Amino acid sequence: MNKLKKETHSFQSEVKQLLHLMIHSLYSNKEIFLRELISNASDAIDKLRFLGISKPELYENESNTKIQISVNKSQGTLIINDNGIGMTRQDVINNLGTIAKSGTKSFLKSLENQKNNVKNELIGEFGVGFYSSFIVSEKVLVRTRFAGNNNDQGTLWESFGKGEYNITNIVKKTKGTEITLFLKKEENEFLETWRIQSIINKYSDHITVPIEIQMYDEKKKIYFWEQTNKAKALWTKQKSSISEVEYQEFYKHLTNDQNNPIIWNHSHVEGVHEYISLLYVPEKASWDIWNKDSKHGLKLYVKRVYIMDNSQAFLPNYLRFIKGIIDSNNLPLNVSREILQDNSITQNLKSALIKKSLKMLEKLSKNNNKYQIFWNQFGLVLKEGPAEDSKNLNLIANLLRFTSFKNNTAEQTMSLKEYVSNMHKEQEKIYYITSDSYTSAKNSPHLELFNKKNIDVLLLSDRIDEWMMNYLVEFEGKKFQSISKEDISLNKLTKEKIKNEKISTDISNFLKRAKKVLGNKIKLVRTTYRLTETPCVVLSDANEMSTQMAKLFSAAGQTVPELKYIFEINPQHPLIKKICKINDDKKFDEWINLLLDQALFAEKGNLENPHKFIATINKLLIEE
Ligand code: ADP
Ligand code: MG
Repeated sequence: MNKLKKETHSFQSEVKQLLHLMIHSLYSNKEIFLRELISNASDAIDKLRFLGISKPELYENESNTKIQISVNKSQGTLIINDNGIGMTRQDVINNLGTIAKSGTKSFLKSLENQKNNVKNELIGEFGVGFYSSFIVSEKVLVRTRFAGNNNDQGTLWESFGKGEYNITNIVKKTKGTEITLFLKKEENEFLETWRIQSIINKYSDHITVPIEIQMYDEKKKIYFWEQTNKAKALWTKQKSSISEVEYQEFYKHLTNDQNNPIIWNHSHVEGVHEYISLLYVPEKASWDIWNKDSKHGLKLYVKRVYIMDNSQAFLPNYLRFIKGIIDSNNLPLNVSREILQDNSITQNLKSALIKKSLKMLEKLSKNNNKYQIFWNQFGLVLKEGPAEDSKNLNLIANLLRFTSFKNNTAEQTMSLKEYVSNMHKEQEKIYYITSDSYTSAKNSPHLELFNKKNIDVLLLSDRIDEWMMNYLVEFEGKKFQSISKEDISLNKLTKEKIKNEKISTDISNFLKRAKKVLGNKIKLVRTTYRLTETPCVVLSDANEMSTQMAKLFSAAGQTVPELKYIFEINPQHPLIKKICKINDDKKFDEWINLLLDQALFAEKGNLENPHKFIATINKLLIEE
């Protein structure tokens, strides 16, 4: 037998911080500790069931897996026992001394300045798991042994939840884990079996493992075990027999999110591919949704046997906010992440689940209020869809929401259907503008003509928008058109033309001189019908990279070829009329450069040489 080696270890600093937070932030919902411990026990039994498929000896002649809960009133202890996979000594050190999840540090940092109620919510979202035992306990003991190991390879872990824990080798006859909570005096309510029962009914009824509570028969003076949950996988039940609350509790169990889901879809599918799926859309984005290596994906079961968490093979990235389970009858039980990757069954399931998810969102979109909550949380994620999933472009496009010039609010509430239904009779294209911010889009000089003609324009100012618009080519047969790009069909619609005879000799001289001054800085210079209030504007050529796209590329550290714009001037503008009259070439030169810089400034939001721009303005002001 191993020497009884007792060691004292210090908790990882994040754990200390977490424990401190939990114990001191007046946790309002203390009872969730039991849900967490039962969930861990059930996970451990799932793991045993999974590994037991290929190694039946791991069951150690005890094939009835279960979770048992008992109390000892005189000692003030609550004991949660499972005969699942258990832990080795090293597992214990790794799992019950650190927080392995990535991003914990940033999560804890985000908690620092929050109010208590927000903290509670965030902690719940993060899923504090095992450490929540210290919300109600003074001291916690864990006795565990990994299935298949010898009896003397058990481990005892004990801690007061302060800075450190002790770890000792022990003999443990049964595989699995037994957790003993020495409850704080004021938490004695958790010693009452009716209380325990009600918590289990509330949170853990759907757990597929039997949960038994130890009861005492007063008459016979004996203890006996009574199963307290139904232990049937929720998703295998008929939809009509599942209550809304049951669906919600199952979601919370699955995700550690304390908020209710905003919508869900449960389907039993028969045929070539037989499967059950239960998909949820959360009400709130998880804190790590923008974390590159955050874990998302569905929980995978094969014929009711738990296989793995966070299987990313069934949903694309742009639907990463969807949570849920998929239970397939066709996949092999020994499936691994690698096998899943390029498996035709997976591919089929994936396309079916994408459709289901998008249909579920479409259903949600019938409820404007709820859909707006969803869009505000996940719109940016969904906007990755057009680039990632061209097959479902139409479904996705219908789910997108925008703001527009006429909408008059930064909030994105307009669907493309709505835009199209408000289009002018002769309008063939969907007009949009991309910019750095809502305000700069809304005030862009490009909008002047559209405003005058009462044609609405979508205002796009999320970073991803420019990228998305590369993939969103048309909607219901209508092409998308950026209004900051050359568009020869525009004058047909607006019936605005620059009639040649109307261009005075002054203006045509002006254009010639301007081209001479600006030379290669621009593609061409011409008069415009687009402007009403602004003297000049720059347009991108139809086939050239747009300004926003160029910005995205250079922000990503790529070299972008210098953009050459079409420079348009508004012959009606008093400033242009004034400059037309300047004969002095040097002065004209300064004015033209100033005009171009103005237009570039409006288009790009910055200038290569702002000092020169300011100096020229000042000089011209003084000369006035
Ligand atoms: P999570 O369950 O989210 O991983 P927890 O803090 O609840 O986080 O648990 C930490 C880890 O401790 C688990 O992932 C698991 O490896 C281990 N663990 C906890 N309880 C048990 C148990 N009853 N049996 C086996 N392993 C357990
Ligand atoms: Mg857990």
